[in-house]
Amino acid sequence: MGVFISFDQEDITYTNGETIRGSVVLFCKKETTLSRVSVTLSGESTCILRGGPGVLQRKNRETHRLVHELQDITPTSATHQGKKQTPFKLGFGYHSFPFTLNIPWFSQCKTCSSTDCHSYDLPPSMSEVVKDAEIQYKIDASVTVRNIFNETINSSTKIYVWPLDTRPTSMPRASPTRTWRGLLQSIAHAEASIAGVTDQSSTSNHRGGNPMHLPSTPDAVQISIEARFPQDYGLTCGSDISMSLGIKKRTDYQGTLHLQSFQTLLVGYTDIGGQFTEQSQVEFWMVQSVSNINLQISNAHDAVDSERYVHEELWEGKPLPMSVIPSFKSCNVERRYELEISMGLQCEAPRGRVKFVQLLLPVRIFSGILPGRDIDGEKSHENHTSSFDDPCQVNTLLPSNRSVLSGDTLVPGFGPPPTYVEAVSNAAGPRRRR
Ligand SMILES: [Zn+2]
Repeated sequence: MGVFISFDQEDITYTNGETIRGSVVLFCKKETTLSRVSVTLSGESTCILRGGPGVLQRKNRETHRLVHELQDITPTSATHQGKKQTPFKLGFGYHSFPFTLNIPWFSQCKTCSSTDCHSYDLPPSMSEVVKDAEIQYKIDASVTVRNIFNETINSSTKIYVWPLDTRPTSMPRASPTRTWRGLLQSIAHAEASIAGVTDQSSTSNHRGGNPMHLPSTPDAVQISIEARFPQDYGLTCGSDISMSLGIKKRTDYQGTLHLQSFQTLLVGYTDIGGQFTEQSQVEFWMVQSVSNINLQISNAHDAVDSERYVHEELWEGKPLPMSVIPSFKSCNVERRYELEISMGLQCEAPRGRVKFVQLLLPVRIFSGILPGRDIDGEKSHENHTSSFDDPCQVNTLLPSNRSVLSGDTLVPGFGPPPTYVEAVSNAAGPRRRR
């Protein structure tokens, strides 16, 4: 007998709360009696822990079942006591048993003892991305044949799950405008001293002449840099970094200060081993890197303690790649991120010495997928007219719809979740509206 699982919707990446509809299809070569047909949705977090020296290195595979939903789809027959499952006969040919299973909103481990059972946000599918760690969802069909062996035939199919962006819709997901700055809070801070320039600088050194004549030390400008982010430190896949960057002049420096280079780097860590992390793997995504920008930050007339904002245009149009796996935590795997902002600052450009200042801060990555998709509707709506794609919904999230409407656009929180291949492909770049 052959057992197959077929889905009403093919190639779908499911998200929180969605319903998987499909059928268990059986092919009987001859008349067969069955006693049970069931389907199970499961989600597992698996890691391999390595330890011990050299060739004796031990490998322990540890699996936690985060999602488990069983549905018995054995046909029932009416009896005097109500409906009852009894063994049933199937003739030669194909037979289909429909099922529906729901992707839960949260994961809750069935492997850990109930005392330390945790509920976590639903982790995204993750396989062949990180060595020794995997998040896998699958549907298993199980058919018990009634014969002397009570043989059970199983069939398993992988499905892909990508979590929703569950933040309140008032939360900024794109680059903030000035009016949004009030929604942000300071979470990274750096102090720096940028060397100034004197008239006799650089040229008088190492040129023979009087070796005792040292150039006078130029004044330095003391600055403080503050990066402000949404309260949940949230950054959104497929959207620009929501950040405001303020630079304060701390001393009365009589000259100009320029920003010459600007770099944002996302550092992803996969911690494997749960509570007592045994190993961590690191990946990098260069979000943006520009140099020779010569952007004036302050001049001689700026008062001490005045703050100037670096214009957001600098990091606009540089969205986080969709290939970034949203932050998550399970019993034995955690995916977390840090954002590294690196700035080259120079007094009296192009004469001063460029000083590099770095800010490093923890951030949470959200998928950017908004709730409300109608997967059953999508089949019949070629132009994606479901509520998920309602432009009005997006406009309420963005103070300006400029980034939504222009040409071949990046549309944050817009459209269906990416297919798994899209989501984890190395091809960086914005998700585009189809
Ligand atoms: Zn667990």
